[in-house]
Amino acid sequence: MRRPKHRSIERLPKYRVTIYRRQPDYEWSTEPNMKAIFNSIDRLAKTGDLPDEELLALITTGDKEAVGRLSARAREVREKVYGRSVYIRGLIEFSSYCKNDCYYCGLRRSNRSAERYRLTPEDILSCCAQGFDLGFRTFVLQGGEDPFFIDERMTALVRQIKERFPECAVTLSLGERERESYQALFDAGADRYLLRHETADKEHYEKLHPAEMSYEHRMKCLRDLRGIGYQVGCGMMVGSPFQRPEHLLKDLRFLQSFRPEMVGIGPFIPQKDTPFGDRTSGGAGDTLLLLSIIRLLLPQVLLPATTALGTIDPMGREKGLQAGANVIMPNLSPVSVRKKYLLYDNKICTGEEAAECVQSLRDRVARAGYEIVVSRGDHPSRQ
Ligand code: SAM
Ligand code: SF4
Repeated sequence: MRRPKHRSIERLPKYRVTIYRRQPDYEWSTEPNMKAIFNSIDRLAKTGDLPDEELLALITTGDKEAVGRLSARAREVREKVYGRSVYIRGLIEFSSYCKNDCYYCGLRRSNRSAERYRLTPEDILSCCAQGFDLGFRTFVLQGGEDPFFIDERMTALVRQIKERFPECAVTLSLGERERESYQALFDAGADRYLLRHETADKEHYEKLHPAEMSYEHRMKCLRDLRGIGYQVGCGMMVGSPFQRPEHLLKDLRFLQSFRPEMVGIGPFIPQKDTPFGDRTSGGAGDTLLLLSIIRLLLPQVLLPATTALGTIDPMGREKGLQAGANVIMPNLSPVSVRKKYLLYDNKICTGEEAAECVQSLRDRVARAGYEIVVSRGDHPSRQ
């Protein structure tokens, strides 16, 4: 049989995956060429890039020593850019209504078991006031794609928050909207926007979303946000259904080309009332590994250790900080609604243990070797 002249990228991963067999959460493995993999890690740390084949070998490594080295390099880079500071963002989950039907999410419209709520502007402002006193200087307003929050309502809300807390940044995470809507929100004072791309592979995107949602539109939204001038966050779930290492490689290449100011990644966690309710969760080890790689690819990026990571591993957020993350997003929503914003099962921070306990969070972060600071925590390019 004749060998093809050029192996496509789709074929390379299969080859690599066979060699560098992934093992769950940092089990020791017998990597065939540790010298080569260490060399790749050091070159990634030095140059911020690697060829596909080497990057893929890192994504799929299960070797404890390789992971440790990657994490150490990511820490060094993070400390060079941000020192030991950790930025905190007060997350206000203000609506659990959603018109979309993403197959992975507990808030999807077809989930009849989901309890729905909307916070009033007064509720939201009082969350901000409480957060301000606790030292938060960024508020993240996140919700399902709720048609109730038309531009007039949202812009009025953003204006009120900015008037009352002028030294604070407002981050929005409201899903896909028209460019004019993003512009109106920006003009009202919103500083940043989080819209995970979810996957940079169109076919994979289509397996995670119903036909009415499109990969092209998601990408257009991200370009619109960037064009308007927001600090933009994208990201993906780790271990989402049908995800293969090649998809993660594409995600990393997308992040490198789009150069977002923030990257949110966390493990996929099943929610029992969704079509993916019986799937397995993404791994904490895989998520930590990717956090480190992302820190090395984008040294200045704002990188949260997410709630989902803290949900699958009780020390997940601390481990995330030690793997290169520099942001945490405690929940500032009223305790009475927290259990209703259930994207996935067993979500942490649904009780009293969330933002009120900033002091205990400070202690935990300090034990991990870092320090929570009172700051807006903008991307270095915007400071
Ligand atoms: N509706 C907005 C959107 O989709 O961008 C913002 C809220 S949405 C719940 C925020 C993020 O939650 C999504 O981008 C998705 O990556 C994540 N998410 C949803 N379901 C999840 C699950 N089962 N496991 C982990 N993360 C999930
Ligand atoms: Fe709605 Fe966002 Fe959940 Fe999709 S991920 S169903 S858009 S809340």
